[in-house]
Amino acid sequence: FDLRNEDLKDMQELGQGNGGSVKKVEHAPTGTIMAKKIVLIDAKPSVRKQILRELQIMHDCNSVHIISFYGAFISDPNICICMEYMDKGSLDGIYKKIGPIDIDVIGKVALAVLEGLTYLYDVHRIIHRDIKPSNILFNSQGQIKICDFGVSGELINSIADTFVGTSTYMSPERIQGAQYTVKSDVWSLGISLIELALGRFPFADSSSDDSDLSDFEGTLSPSRPAPAPLPARTKEQKDKKKKRKSKGVSLQGGGMTMSILELLQHIVNEPAPRLAPEGRFPKEAEEFVDSCLLKDPEQRKTPKDLLKSSWVEHSRTSTIDLEAWASTF
Ligand code: ADP
Ligand code: MG
Repeated sequence: FDLRNEDLKDMQELGQGNGGSVKKVEHAPTGTIMAKKIVLIDAKPSVRKQILRELQIMHDCNSVHIISFYGAFISDPNICICMEYMDKGSLDGIYKKIGPIDIDVIGKVALAVLEGLTYLYDVHRIIHRDIKPSNILFNSQGQIKICDFGVSGELINSIADTFVGTSTYMSPERIQGAQYTVKSDVWSLGISLIELALGRFPFADSSSDDSDLSDFEGTLSPSRPAPAPLPARTKEQKDKKKKRKSKGVSLQGGGMTMSILELLQHIVNEPAPRLAPEGRFPKEAEEFVDSCLLKDPEQRKTPKDLLKSSWVEHSRTSTIDLEAWASTF
């Protein structure tokens, strides 16, 4: 495709993210339906050209679990990225519409994401960096594909420069300033799978002393890691925290407010969330999620190793009909 903005006819707005918006468009000369992501980049022309060059790697990313790439171009002051349109949208939209997702479907999601991550890393040495339900897409043929992976270092930098905050799918080691590895993506996958199974963002446990996290919902903007390791919280600080109102930037959910720092401290200091209540989900699924959410990255497996876990192997042979499932919503 030789993509030009004037050939793309807007059809529908698909969603807004932190870096811009995504529209369903038709490429008029060929009649191809695409998703066009418009990323606002406040950068010099030379940097934009560099981003465009780096994005070309996506042309070589060919896997059934990776969104196909049609091309990218600069449309001042934006960068437009045209990709395969997935007609059932992202998994966050799906569970918000139909409620918690069946664990057998989630098994197929885990398999697809692990295959996609393994392909990106083994073939291209790419680490995704932004695994979350809104970056896992589904179509009416029952295919599951990942999008928005970190191909362009310059793009990552530019977006980080523009937006403050951090993703709540971020692993403890990343929050503490460590480099991204494929294992950080595994943590994010674990959080995402619990979210799909419960039908809500998992950092909430009304029985714990962090009851102010109950029903916490929402995603923070992506961005740079916290500059320095966060100190462990003392008992005294924990008590204080209960009385104190959040200061500074805060997030709201379920009538509760917490600061970004409090959420990040929670991820670093508290036990990882689990598939709960115990017994509601298959043991193998519980064990898989637990292994994704080992807080020590040394102990956490890579996507490739996790493909060998029993739950994922069973998901591979499961005969669940995702095409039929897709037709129910
Ligand atoms: P985020 O992933 O943070 O939600 P994005 O800007 O990446 O923000 O995407 C916004 C929304 O657009 C997503 O939540 C998703 O539902 C939708 N979307 C993105 N890419 C596609 C695509 N290729 N096909 C269909 N829907 C898409
Ligand atoms: Mg996205």
